[in-house]
This record gives sequence, structure tokens and C-alpha cells, in this order.
Amino acid sequence: MNNEKQFPNLSNMRDRIIECVKCAFCKADCVISKELLWESASPRGKMLLLRGLLDGFGTLTEKTIKSLYNCTFCGECVKDCLAGISLEDVFLAIRKDLFNLSQENKLSESAIIHKVDMLCQRLQENYNPLGNLPEERTIWELGQDIKLPRTAEIVYFVGCMPAYYRKSARTTSQILKALNANFTTLGSSERCCGSLSFFLGDEKTTKELAHYNITRIKESGAKKVVTSCPGCFSMLKREYPKILGKKSEFEVMHISELLIEFLEKDQLHCKSELNLSVMYHDPCELTHFDIYEQPRRILKEIPGIKLLENSENATPTCCGGGGGLMSLDVNLSTKIAKRRLETALDLGAEALITCCPACIAAFTSAAMEYNMPIKIIDLLDLVLQSLENKIEN
Ligand code: SF4
Ligand code: SF4
Repeated sequence: MNNEKQFPNLSNMRDRIIECVKCAFCKADCVISKELLWESASPRGKMLLLRGLLDGFGTLTEKTIKSLYNCTFCGECVKDCLAGISLEDVFLAIRKDLFNLSQENKLSESAIIHKVDMLCQRLQENYNPLGNLPEERTIWELGQDIKLPRTAEIVYFVGCMPAYYRKSARTTSQILKALNANFTTLGSSERCCGSLSFFLGDEKTTKELAHYNITRIKESGAKKVVTSCPGCFSMLKREYPKILGKKSEFEVMHISELLIEFLEKDQLHCKSELNLSVMYHDPCELTHFDIYEQPRRILKEIPGIKLLENSENATPTCCGGGGGLMSLDVNLSTKIAKRRLETALDLGAEALITCCPACIAAFTSAAMEYNMPIKIIDLLDLVLQSLENKIEN
């Protein structure tokens, strides 16, 4: 029996699923495959499961559902697929169908679906996936010497993790202030960018968040939106125009790109020497926009930083936190992060540097869980420490 009616989004992907020649090239760089080893955990295995679901010879067991959520959306399988299949689109399509089925109470016995529902409900109620109060979104501003204008050339879109965990938002704003950037934020009017609901297949919540945030950004009069979170960056830059069906009226930049602009105008001067051997970790959502060189160039500007690279860095591997995995299966996510930290230690790095709050959370959890002798540092913290004209709060 054919299941196309039950899985309308997946049915739209039928051609891509059929194109799979089962060669398994997509397994080579998949962090989930490396960790779990089962075929059903691999991208090829997922494609076979999906073919089975579509054609009616596969059933939606808890194990199948778990396999479909065991994915960080790192995109490595897409790069490796010789048939040119956009696997991420296929995996996103089934998540949309599963989410819609859950809204019809059809998967109420699934523990994973229950978690997905709970996370999306938090987003609908609190506008952040952490469950914190929306009015506490500006808690990071407390004790900071920042008086932001109502309108400005740049809006710093803070994002949930930087805002509620505070440190990353404070560092970014201190850097922008030290560079005399004409910036503001959306303050307590900002809501989650919708990255988590997007990856969990909740289209309605994602669209509402996109529409809301875009309206607030327009009101700010900004020409540029800067994020310190690659997840927010990817949503604002690539997904919002697709979701809302129109081009952005402003430029969207990751903070590493903005810092390069300041560097090229000779306005970013890293002076203090920080003696440290480091490995840089590429956040997946920056690699999707070919942002490899910018963070490395910034690191090389900091006196005393020794940047260690190995061949594995040429094939970025994931921190394990993306695609909602850190919220859905923290143990698996932490094991994946541990592997990356082992690479850094093998290289002789004293610290792993990255510029993504989700990667930092995943690596910090792994370093603590497995008692690993490595520091996890945000690139922006190094920049702020080294800035000639830094502002102390
Ligand atoms: S690499 Fe592409 S064609 Fe080969 S098994 Fe994976 S998805 Fe199928
Ligand atoms: S997106 Fe990444 S984690 Fe997901 S199946 Fe592909 S390689 Fe594996």
C-alpha cells in the first residue's frame, strides 16, 4: 500500500529518494554513522527507511522515528552524495510530516515526538526554546554600560542562547561598542529566530517567528543585521526569504564577516598577546555559506595565537549539537562532541576555538562529562581580550 497521503511532504521528495543508488558514499563523514554504526542511523539507511514508509512496506516504529531524528543537519552527506541528492531536504520533509501527524494526535505514544512537541510548545509560549521568560531576554544588558539607540545602521540580532546565557551577547556588544559601530538590538522585542522549530518540522511556528522578527527589524531602520549565532545567521539569511517568499531588505552578516570589514578598514587592532595553541572548529551553519577563512583570518590577527590545522579540518565535522539533537538526545550529541575534542587534543591544542554558542555548549558539556583537558573558547572572547581599545565593564 502506498503511504503518500500520510506523508505529503515526503511524497514531494519521491524522485530524490528514488535517485539513491545505495552506494553509501554519504556514510563516510556522517557523525551519527560514526557513532552508532547501525545502517538505520546512516544517511543511506534513512533513505531506505523513507522509501519503505512511502511505499507502504515500512512501519513507523519508535526505532524508525528515533533514526529520523538522529541527524544534526550538518550537511556532510549532501557534499558526499555522488548522485547529487539534497538529503537534508528529504530529512526535513519527513520531520514536517511527523510534526503534522503529531498535531493530529496520531503519534502520541512516541517519546521522541512528545519531546519535539514540548520544545515547539515552549517556542510558541515563551519565544525561546530554553523555556525562559520572554521579558528576561535582555538580562544580559544588566551591569553593561550600553545605551542603545532606537534605530541604527546595524541591528545585532542577539539570539536565544547568547541572550539568556548572557556571556556571548555581552562580548559581542562590547566588541561592537569598542569598534564604534552604529548598532542597536531589538531588545525584549526580539524572539527566537526559529531555527529549532524549523529543524523539528514545525512550519507554522517558524513562519510566525520569521514574520515577527522581520517586522521588528524593519522598524529599526537597519541596513545590516549581524548575528553572533550561526543558527540565527542561517535562518535570517537563507530561510526567512524562502519562508516569507520575498528578498530581505537588509544585508545579513555573521559577526566574523563584519569583523573582517573592520579589519580591512584598518579599524580592528588586536594588540594584547595571548599565548595559546588552538584548533579552530567550523560551525556547520557557517560552512554552508563558505565561511571558513574569515574566522581563521581573525585568529591570525591575534598576537601569540598558534593555529593548528590537520587534514580533518579540511573536512569539517560537526559538534553534534545541530538539528535539535542536543535537545532530543544529549548523550549522543555529547559523544559526537567528544570525538571532535579528541582531534584537538591529538593535534596538541590547548584550546578549541569556535564562534557558535551551540557548538560551545556541546563542547563544554563533553569536556566536563569526559573530564578532557582542553579549554573551549569563543573566538569573540579572544578578540575582546586582545582589542587595543576594549571597553571594560
Ligand atoms: S551517497 Fe547518495 S546515492 Fe549514495 S547511498 Fe547516499 S544518498 Fe544514496
Ligand atoms: S546531515 Fe550530517 S548528521 Fe545528518 S545524516 Fe547527513 S551527514 Fe549525517
